[in-house]
Amino acid sequence: MNVHDTKEKIIQIFMIKTKKIVKEIEQTEDIICDICGKSCKSFTDFEYLELTATWGFESNKDGEKWDAHICEKCVDEKLSFINFKKINYF
Ligand SMILES: [Zn+2]
Repeated sequence: MNVHDTKEKIIQIFMIKTKKIVKEIEQTEDIICDICGKSCKSFTDFEYLELTATWGFESNKDGEKWDAHICEKCVDEKLSFINFKKINYF
């Protein structure tokens, strides 16, 4: 009796019927920089800074949610004035 037969036996004992299905999943294909319009794709992943804000009732943007993805080049060239809090995780 091989592993497949054993699994079939267990399934029969518990009266569980199974079937194989093909599931479609959504996968990120690309992330575009919201400053330069270029791809944030690197060799194996995406490299970007994500800026998000959910504005509250005391702001002039109440009920708005803002989101932006910025590529590393634009972070270095255009956002260097921001005092980012940096943590080295290595
Ligand atoms: Zn950019």
